[in-house]
Amino acid sequence: MEANGSSKWRFQANQDLIEASSRSVRKIVVTLMESLGKEDTRPAIPLGHGDPSVFPYFRTTVVAEDAVVDAIRSGNYNSYCTDLQGVLPARRAVAEDLSQDLPYKLSPEDVFLTSGCKQAIEHITAVLACPNANILLPRPGFPDYEAHAMFYHLEFRLFDLLPDKGWEVDLEAVEALADDNTVAMVIINPGNPCGNVYTYQHLMKVAETARKLGIMVISDEAYARLNFGANPFVPMGTFASVAPVITLGSISKRWLVPGWRLGWLVKNDPHGILAKSGVVESLKSYRVMTSDAATFLQGAFPEMIEKTKEEFFCKILKNLRVNVDICYDKIKGIPYLICPYKPEGSMFMLVKLNLALLDGIRDDMDFCEKLAREESVIVLPGVAVGLKNWLRITFAIEPSALEEGLERIIVFCHRHSKR
Ligand SMILES: *Cc1c(COP(=O)(O)O)cnc(C)c1O
Repeated sequence: MEANGSSKWRFQANQDLIEASSRSVRKIVVTLMESLGKEDTRPAIPLGHGDPSVFPYFRTTVVAEDAVVDAIRSGNYNSYCTDLQGVLPARRAVAEDLSQDLPYKLSPEDVFLTSGCKQAIEHITAVLACPNANILLPRPGFPDYEAHAMFYHLEFRLFDLLPDKGWEVDLEAVEALADDNTVAMVIINPGNPCGNVYTYQHLMKVAETARKLGIMVISDEAYARLNFGANPFVPMGTFASVAPVITLGSISKRWLVPGWRLGWLVKNDPHGILAKSGVVESLKSYRVMTSDAATFLQGAFPEMIEKTKEEFFCKILKNLRVNVDICYDKIKGIPYLICPYKPEGSMFMLVKLNLALLDGIRDDMDFCEKLAREESVIVLPGVAVGLKNWLRITFAIEPSALEEGLERIIVFCHRHSKR
């Protein structure tokens, strides 16, 4: 072997991983951070990613922190989690909490605890990735679904969400895309990146379409109950007697603790279709291989949910409502950005770039890079969520920083305005 030659080494890395991760939000935000103006002495304003927990305005409740401390101090959660689905009292707490909004009762047997909603996405993707199967995903959407589908060689097909209809699912497109190998469709409600909150009637139609096609609905409810507009939040599980539903969720957004890593995958399946099709068994088998959510977090969850006061959730909603008004009003006042829908949930607003009015801006990525360089503001280019020449703005930050960030965006647009 040559002294320094690597040519004889036989290993190489899995290129699928690089391909799958290429469009992650995190990667694009890091690129934008690198574009930040070096001479700008003003603080950078992060309107790009959705993690409000760094701001005191969005600090979690102390009772949640105490619940984690209590769980650790109890000494009861130092072991591996021996239950394949997760610690039983925590599963019971999730089942009871979700059942409040459902026309039937979930049981702890329906609940699989995961290391955040992200891991729940991984689990269900792995389970559905049979040869030739395909899954229908929303565009715009949450890039993790595509990344996992790519990695597991599960073909994905994108259906559009309709901006002029409150980002509802284009159900005709869903029917046109589906074939005999389609196994599931994903919806995200409340929506990331659109801020949509779907009506009861629309969700019913989603369920009916799924039934017609013989597929399950995977409902990402990471922002469950983070709705602050006219439409109430209706869980997709409400329609589980029409078509089987897998609900994904977590504590990350509702308690503002995305670093803690506790989530769930819940089957809403009153007719036992998922069990009969082998999905449940496959899910359990997959879990034999993967790591559990930290046992002490599972142990903390029942106390967390029992002791968190309604005022905590109300305050978050109030803050989000104030912020969405600030964001919507400022953007309405300028012609360069078009917002077709005022968000009613989650933490994001999607706006369309009016490139015809902007000089020397090629596309959304170019806009975001220049904005970072010239104004030290980070916003997410639409390409990251599947919609070129749109922008995703996170409004879950301190209102003063949000106003400042939007002012800088306005100054930037004026500076690049076509005369
Ligand atoms: C944040 C988010 C997730 C991941 O949540 P974690 O629980 O932090 O893993 C999943 N889906 C959507 C739509 C999200 O916005």
